[in-house]
Amino acid sequence: MATADPDCLFCKIVAGEVLATMLAEDERTIAFMDINPATRGHALVIPRAHVRDLHEIDTDDLKAVAASAQRLAARQLERLGADGVTLLNSNGAAAWQTVFHFHMHVIPRYANDPLRLPWVPAPGDMEDVARAGAELAR
Ligand code: AMP
Ligand code: ZN
Repeated sequence: MATADPDCLFCKIVAGEVLATMLAEDERTIAFMDINPATRGHALVIPRAHVRDLHEIDTDDLKAVAASAQRLAARQLERLGADGVTLLNSNGAAAWQTVFHFHMHVIPRYANDPLRLPWVPAPGDMEDVARAGAELAR
């Protein structure tokens, strides 16, 4: 039995205590519709086990979430006529996470849909790109 947090909204969805429009389930994950869809068909995939974010999730659960997201993304193209799919996962309040049970957004995208990233890509300072790269690389 996966670990649950009694105060967590998504654990309550896993337990069936809060209703959600369920899409898929397997041993490690569930998938359901987001109630505030960014586009038509916006879904969430979560591990059954309560973990806060990417830093806590078990690697096998992360793989299972990715596999479920891949299956859902294919359905969004086939059944909803989506033209593309954006996967989004936020970790920490600074990264816009609002529900602190790991979740992957699976957002169908439609040609010319109005969804925009909240930053405008612009050329970077290449020296700082290199410095940050050096800090990140093994
Ligand atoms: P984030 O801001 O990345 O933490 O995403 C949390 C997501 O959970 C938001 O897109 C919400 O719309 C969604 N959400 C919150 N409550 C529910 C709920 N009861 N059922 C389905 N989705 C929810
Ligand atoms: Zn939880």
